[in-house]
Amino acid sequence: MAAAYFDVIVVGAGPAGISAAYTAASGGLKVALIERGEFPGAKNIFGGVLYRKQLEDIIPEFWKEAPLERTIVEQRMWVLGKESVVTFGHRNERYKEPPNCWTGLRVKFDQWYAGKAEKAGAVPIYETVVTDFLREGGRVVGVRTDREEGDLRAGVVIVADGINSLLGKALGVHKEWLPDQVSLAVKEVIELPKEKIQDRFNLEGDEGCTIEFVGETLGMAGLGFLYTNQETLSLGVGVMVSDLKKQRVKPYEILDSIKQHPMIRKLIQGGEAKEYSGHLIPEGGFDSLPQLAGDGWMICGDAAQMVNVVHREGTNLAMLSGRLAAETAMAAHAAGNYSAGVLRGYQQAVQASLIYRDLRKYRGMHHLLRDMDSDLLFDRLPQALNDAAYQMLLVDGTPKKDKQRKVLRQLRDASGGRLDLLRLGLKGWGAMNG
Ligand SMILES: Cc1cc2nc3c(=O)[nH]c(=O)nc-3n(C[C@H](O)[C@H](O)[C@H](O)COP(=O)(O)OP(=O)(O)OC[C@H]3O[C@@H](n4cnc5c(N)ncnc54)[C@H](O)[C@@H]3O)c2cc1C
Repeated sequence: MAAAYFDVIVVGAGPAGISAAYTAASGGLKVALIERGEFPGAKNIFGGVLYRKQLEDIIPEFWKEAPLERTIVEQRMWVLGKESVVTFGHRNERYKEPPNCWTGLRVKFDQWYAGKAEKAGAVPIYETVVTDFLREGGRVVGVRTDREEGDLRAGVVIVADGINSLLGKALGVHKEWLPDQVSLAVKEVIELPKEKIQDRFNLEGDEGCTIEFVGETLGMAGLGFLYTNQETLSLGVGVMVSDLKKQRVKPYEILDSIKQHPMIRKLIQGGEAKEYSGHLIPEGGFDSLPQLAGDGWMICGDAAQMVNVVHREGTNLAMLSGRLAAETAMAAHAAGNYSAGVLRGYQQAVQASLIYRDLRKYRGMHHLLRDMDSDLLFDRLPQALNDAAYQMLLVDGTPKKDKQRKVLRQLRDASGGRLDLLRLGLKGWGAMNG
C-alpha cells in the first residue's frame, strides 16, 4: 500500500509542534500531527509560565477559552541564604489587562491547544513514535513510525520533538547535548486549598504570583521556582547537568533540601505532593542553535535549543518558531518547492525574530556559567549578599560606616578579592548584554 501523503508532517505535539500544525492547517495545508504520548501533554512538564504575545499572534484572545491557572500579577526573585532571603520583585495591576502571562499545567493546556489544531484540520496521530526519516536522494520526504505500515510521506517535515530530539540527531544538526548545555529539572505539584494560596501569596481571585530563587542548590549552577496555580503550587529546581555529574548529587535531593528551607517550608506547609516529574532544559543558548532547515525539513522549539533561560521563556519561543516554520511551509507549498533554498526562509525568519535577538543578547551567559566557579555564584555570593543585608539592617550600636566596611570586606572575601569582585561584575554585565 502506498504511504499516505501530507503537505506537512509535524513531529511532536508540544508548544512548537502544535503551533506549527495549527498555523499550517488553518492556512489550508494537509497536516499530520504525530505525538508519541497517549495524548498531547500526557508526558510533558514545564514550570510553568505561559506568555500571551506569541500565542495571541496565533489564536487571538485564546485566554478566554484556554485552561489557564492564574494571571501573574507579581514576579519575585529571591536570593536565598541558609536561613534568610534577599528579595526583589515587581507587582503591577497593569499585568491583568491585557494579561502578560499565566501559570498553566501542560497536561491540560497541550490537550486544549492540540484540540484547536485538530479543529483547524490537522490529523492527530497519537501514541505513535517517529523513528526515522524517509529520504530520497539526500532529501527528507517523510517519516517512518513505530506503527505497522507506518511510513508517511510529506512535502516537508517539521521537527518539534523536544530537547532529546532523536530526529535532530538523525539529521546530524546536533549530537548529544554536552553536560554544560542542559540542566536537569525536577518538579513537584503540591495540592493546597485555594484560600491558603491566596493568603500566603497575597492574592485575590485569579491573581497569581511566581517566585524564582537562586542559592541553596548545594553550590551548583541552578535556579528554583515556586508558582501558584488555582489549587496547587508548582515547586521545582533545575541544575546544570555538568555540576550534578561533578558532585554526584541527584536533583530530587536538592529539591528535598529546598523544601526544608524556612522561606519555602512556610509557603508549602500542609500541602500534599500530587505529582513528581523530571525533564531536561536546553541551556546552551545562542551558540548551540543548530542549522534550522534543509531539503524537506525544518526544526523548532527545544529541539533547536530555543530557550531563553534568563527570562525562563521557552514555550513562547517554541510557539513562535512553530508558527514561522508553518508560514514557510505555506510559502513552499504555494511555490510547489520544498527545497532547502525555499525552506531557508524559515532560518531567515528566525534570525529576524525575537528568538535570535534575545538569545544573542544573552549569549555570554552560557560562557559565564561554564567558566565561573558555580560554588561562588550559587552559594558564596548569595550567602554574602544575605549577610550584608543582615548587617546593614541590624541596629546593634555599630556605626553605619563600620558596617559598610565590614560588608564590603565580606563581599570581597567571598569573591576572592577586590579585583575578582570587579572582574565578576564586568563579566556578569557582559553576559547580560551580548
Ligand atoms: C521544569 C521546567 C520548567 C519550565 N518552565 C518554563 C516556563 O515557566 N515557561 C516557559 O515558557 N518555558 C518553560 N520551560 C521550557 C518549556 O517547557 C519548553 O521550552 C517547551 O516545552 C518547548 O516546547 P517544544 O514543543 O519544543 O518541546 P516539548 O514541549 O518537549 O514537546 C515535544 C513533544 O514531542 C514529543 N516527541 C518527542 N519525540 C517524539 C517522537 N520521536 N515521535 C513522536 N513524538 C515525539 C514529546 O512527547 C512531546 O510531546 C520549562 C521546562 C522545564 C523542563
